[in-house]
Amino acid sequence: MNSPPVPASPRIIPRAEHDISRARISPNALKVLYRLKDAGYEAYLVGGGVRDLLLGREPKDFDIATSARPEELQTLFRNCRLIGRRFRLAHVRFGREIIEVATFRAPHDIAEDEGDAALSEEGRILRDNVYGTFEQDAWRRDFTINALYYDIRDFSVVDHTGGVGDIREGVLRLIGDPEVRYREDPVRMLRAVRFAAKLGFRIEAASEAPLFELAPLLADVAPARLFDEVLKLFQGGAAVQSFELLRHYGLFGVLFPATEAALAREVDGFPLTFLLRALENTDRRVNEGKPVTPAFLFAALLWEPVRLRVRDLANDELGELPALQIAAAEVASEQTRRISLPKRFSLPMREIWTQQPRFSQRQGKRPMRLMAHPRFRAAYDFLCLRAQVGEIDAELCEWWTRLQETDEAGQQQLLESAGRPEGARRKRRRRSRARKAKPSDA
Ligand code: ATP
Ligand code: MG
Repeated sequence: MNSPPVPASPRIIPRAEHDISRARISPNALKVLYRLKDAGYEAYLVGGGVRDLLLGREPKDFDIATSARPEELQTLFRNCRLIGRRFRLAHVRFGREIIEVATFRAPHDIAEDEGDAALSEEGRILRDNVYGTFEQDAWRRDFTINALYYDIRDFSVVDHTGGVGDIREGVLRLIGDPEVRYREDPVRMLRAVRFAAKLGFRIEAASEAPLFELAPLLADVAPARLFDEVLKLFQGGAAVQSFELLRHYGLFGVLFPATEAALAREVDGFPLTFLLRALENTDRRVNEGKPVTPAFLFAALLWEPVRLRVRDLANDELGELPALQIAAAEVASEQTRRISLPKRFSLPMREIWTQQPRFSQRQGKRPMRLMAHPRFRAAYDFLCLRAQVGEIDAELCEWWTRLQETDEAGQQQLLESAGRPEGARRKRRRRSRARKAKPSDA
């Protein structure tokens, strides 16, 4: 089929000519590599670990490719579990660290010749479970920069596909015929965007061109897999750049149809500014090592569709809060058809939304009750994000900030001042009515 010819000999970069030092490889990954080597198997570090080390970046995890079969891995490592839906992998566990070990696999077309792989009508890989040689394992990988192998025998780097040159030039290049490779597995389109955004690499022309046309193929990918990929795109520290590339290639609209539709009817730049602010915040937190939650991320990504739905639903009979509850449930359930959001995130996401009107109720015991709500902090951050982009009065966010920072006496004072209906509150109400009346805002 379309896979490129396997060259007779790969390029070997000896230890003296690259600067991957063992000191920067996880000791547990080294343990696995040495144990495999000593047992007589081929064993290499591969994928993101090698790529990131060559780029001088900290690898997220370490993957290993080996000639040992899964059953052999199980006898070699007691702390080993076989996993895998599409193909079998071994997870070797050391406390909290998991080293992923995969047996060399053949490219999918070779597997097909042997009757051990299957493609859908659209050319999607359904099964590819044929073991292969070291060379074959390199050619079935996605990008050249992800197909570099670190050899534990002599610490050299083995390059079958030209990845070392592409790393040097900052180029992202699919191995083989790009269109065929995207059709085999449309998630590769998201991986292209992710690596381009994260590493600041340029997607080479032939790998870039099919993206615009093939984007709709993503709609057929399992929603659970898309959830994992979306988290990597938006919680990997390059969310803003990923978002912009996804939109550029028409991929975002396949992942978040309602949000894309809302962005198309954008007024005064509001939804776009809101989203960019949310993603900037996420990037800042990730890069400062602070925790981020998918609940907040999805709450931000889907907020504009929720707002539009509330506006359609709310009328004299149905108040704002019930309308918000219905809208939240509808938007969440529509989105789940594309990207499955586990309940432990979708429930808090909906709470972040439905808490929003409660921030305007500043009388009596309500504020202190709201502060005790388990989702208060996330909902408050969300409120302030809305204030930052001018969706609501900045004074509201400031008031809640002061309420949290001050002592008991100060809190009493704030609550009393909010109890007085004159002034700020009335002004705010008038303004929100004026907003609703603007035709461009409907
Ligand atoms: P990171 O872990 O930093 O996100 P990575 O490149 O290591 O990046 P993984 O998802 O851990 O990504 O995959 C490990 C390796 O497996 C990749 O480097 C690539 O060689 C191969 N791989 C992963 N996904 C695919 C795919 N969809 N098609 C082909 N090869 C893939
Ligand atoms: Mg990895």
